[in-house]
Amino acid sequence: VERRLLGKTGLEVGVIGFGTGYLYRKSERAIIELVGEALDHGVNYYDNWIPHAIARRALGIAFRGRRDRVHIAGHLGVYMSGDQPDRTRDPRLAERYFNDMLAEMGMEYVDVLMLHNVDSDDDYDLVMNGGLLECALRLKEQGRSRFIGFSGHESRTLIKATESGNVDVVMSPVGIAWKAEGVAEACERRHVGLVAMKPFWGGELLQEPYSDLVTPVIAISYALAQPAVSTVVPGYSSVQDLHGCLKYLEAPAPERDFTSAVARFGSNTLGACVYCGHCLPCTSGIGIGDVMSVLRSIQRGSPYALDRYASLKVKASACVACGECLDRCPQKVNIIENMREAVRMFGAL
Ligand code: SF4
Ligand code: SF4
Repeated sequence: VERRLLGKTGLEVGVIGFGTGYLYRKSERAIIELVGEALDHGVNYYDNWIPHAIARRALGIAFRGRRDRVHIAGHLGVYMSGDQPDRTRDPRLAERYFNDMLAEMGMEYVDVLMLHNVDSDDDYDLVMNGGLLECALRLKEQGRSRFIGFSGHESRTLIKATESGNVDVVMSPVGIAWKAEGVAEACERRHVGLVAMKPFWGGELLQEPYSDLVTPVIAISYALAQPAVSTVVPGYSSVQDLHGCLKYLEAPAPERDFTSAVARFGSNTLGACVYCGHCLPCTSGIGIGDVMSVLRSIQRGSPYALDRYASLKVKASACVACGECLDRCPQKVNIIENMREAVRMFGAL
């Protein structure tokens, strides 16, 4: 895998990285197989934000004996609340959850410790001045992380973090359909490493009607062509997905050409779910992204949508319209309306 320097960290990261966002749905065996395949193909940057213990343990097993060949990003401020992920800004709790992560993965340290998923100005102030950054710096001093990172979706917050001088790496959406404007340029100016997430807009870009214009190779080429981007971290659901992305490495120039695809996405794409799960936890325990994904399958005419909906533990009808999820959604999806739509679609299932 072609390597690039991650800002001024000195870490050499493969341009094709690994986002773990989809692993929580997989068995230990499937995760070990998928990560093993990535490792065998030279993928060496793994962003692991998910707090699910089964997935973390499986990752730990997959990395065993190869820790020195990989760079791992862990996240500070994320934990499991019941069976859904949640955020905390309490430094004592965050440190405890981080230590749990290291223990679950059987590791002594991470390479990048991301201040997890910071979008609003208020949250930024809380994270940077309320003890979480301090906690990350202390963990770094203790050798439990080599570098400090910052993840989020909003340009203003990401740029502030980049320019604060406190972070070495930023993780931001960088894709044809969704890009945090100005972040790549800020990272380049400050020589901060940029990790490109959500290059496929939650997978939407690889579905109709966009799939006529966009392939994984084209979407990855676009992300890697932006200033300061060192690696792109798609989430992989299968070994086949992984190989679809690795094709970028061998693709000739015409197959990497993203100009027609970019022309298609001149407009703002907010409002569409990218299944990231950042809206969780839901007051009623709804797997919001899963419901949204089923709604999307219905629109695509999938014959499995009904079965998928039936298998969800908590249905959309449990939504009490509390609005707790709305501010957490980086895509500003009208979640309550979508829950109502699912109820209209599936009734009391
Ligand atoms: S509703 Fe928003 S936060 Fe929730 S999964 Fe979709 S895009 Fe992500
Ligand atoms: S508005 Fe509905 S979906 Fe959102 S947190 Fe409240 S109950 Fe859950």
